[in-house]
Amino acid sequence: MFDFKKIESFGPFCISCLGRAVGRVGFGLDNRERGLEMLNQFELQEDTVLEDLICAESGCRICDGLIGDIENFIEMVLEDFSKFSLSTFKIGTIVDNEILEKEIEFQSVFGEELGESIKSQLNREIGIGVYNKSGIDALLDSPDAVAIVDTRYDTVELEIRSLFIEGNYNKFDRTIPQTRWPCSSCKGVGCRKCNNTGQLYPDSVQSLIAEKFLEISLSDEDLFHGMGREDIDAAMLGAGRPFVLELRRPKRRELDLVNIAEDANSSHKDRIKITNLKIVPRSRVAQLKNTVCEKTYRVDVSVSRELSIESLKKGAQRLSNAVVEQRTPTRVSHRRADLVRPRLINYMTVKSFVKGMVELEIRAQHGTYIRELVSGDGGRTDPSLSLLVDSPCKVEVLDVLNLHLDNSEKKNG
Ligand SMILES: [Zn+2]
Ligand SMILES: [Zn+2]
Repeated sequence: MFDFKKIESFGPFCISCLGRAVGRVGFGLDNRERGLEMLNQFELQEDTVLEDLICAESGCRICDGLIGDIENFIEMVLEDFSKFSLSTFKIGTIVDNEILEKEIEFQSVFGEELGESIKSQLNREIGIGVYNKSGIDALLDSPDAVAIVDTRYDTVELEIRSLFIEGNYNKFDRTIPQTRWPCSSCKGVGCRKCNNTGQLYPDSVQSLIAEKFLEISLSDEDLFHGMGREDIDAAMLGAGRPFVLELRRPKRRELDLVNIAEDANSSHKDRIKITNLKIVPRSRVAQLKNTVCEKTYRVDVSVSRELSIESLKKGAQRLSNAVVEQRTPTRVSHRRADLVRPRLINYMTVKSFVKGMVELEIRAQHGTYIRELVSGDGGRTDPSLSLLVDSPCKVEVLDVLNLHLDNSEKKNG
C-alpha cells in the first residue's frame, strides 16, 4: 500500500514521527499509538520489516530528536510560568525549517494531507504537560500568557498579556501634567537639571494613579491612555475624565480595584481621585482615543477694571450658540498643523464678577481652545470675548467641569 523503498530511505525514525505521517487519521489516538497501529498493518499486509526502521526518539532523522525533548520543553515553560500568576496560556513553537521540509517530504510518501505538522504535536503535547503539572488552563483566544518555545535554541519567550484598567480621574492639583514627562535634557536617564529623576515634573496624574497598581501587580511598567487631556495648570472636576491604565507584564493579575482606588485616593487626597475602576479588554484603548465630546469649563478671567458686568454679559451672550473660527494658537503651532477650525460654543455665562475679574462657565464643542476663545490670540480666534468687549481678557485659571460623554462622537482626523 505504501512505497516501502521510499519510506526506508528516510529511516531511522521514531514511532511518533511515523504515526504523525497519518496524524489526521483515527481520532482519539496519539501519534505513538498511530505509529504502532501502522506497524501492525504493515506486518499483516506487506512482506517487509517496517519495525526495523524505528529508533529511539533521540536518533530520529525526521524530528531530529525534538519529540524526545518534549518533557524538557514542558519543564522550561513551567519554570518561566512560575514567576507569574496566570489563569490561562497558549503554547507556540519555532522549529528549524530543515526539519519542517524533511517532514513534508516524508509525509508525502503516505499520501497528501494525512499528516500532522510537528509544530502542532509539540504545541499540543507541551500544552497538555504544562496543564497537567500546573493546572493552568489552555486558551487559544487572548490567554494571560503565550509561551513561544524556540526549539532551535532551547529557549522560551513569554508574552504576558497586559492588564487594562479603565476608570475616571479627577485632578485637583493644577501643577501636574496628565502623563509622565521625561526630562528634555537627559530624555529620562536622570541628570542634574531634573534632580536625577529623569522627569521634568516629579509627579503626574499617571504616576500618582499607577504607583499602587505597579506595586501590587508587580508590573514592569505602565502606560496611560486618557480620553484627551487638560492643560497642566487646569483642574479636572465633575465626574472626571475616562482613562485606561495599561500594566505591562504583571506578575499578579488578581487586583482588588476598590481597595487600590481607596488607597490611591487617600494617599493623594487634594491632588487626584479615581473612580469607577474596572478591568477592560485592550480594544477599549482605541475606543477611548477615538472618542471626543463637548466639555464644560469654569474659567477665571482677568479683565480691565473699566469693564462693566453688563458689557461682559453681552459679550458672553453673543458667543452663546455661536460658531467661532479658530486658527491653530501660537502656543501650540510648533507642534500642530496651522489650520482654521470652526468650533461651536454652546454657551458662555457669567457666574460671578468683581472689578477686574470675571468667572465664566463655557460649554463648547470638542477641540475648542478656551484660552484663545477668551483672549482672541491676536485675532487668530474670531470672534472672541476680547473682541466683543473691545478690551483684552485673559484666562487665569481654567478647570474642566464636565465631559459630556452622553454627547460623544467618533473623532475624525
Ligand atoms: Zn521523530
Ligand atoms: Zn534630566
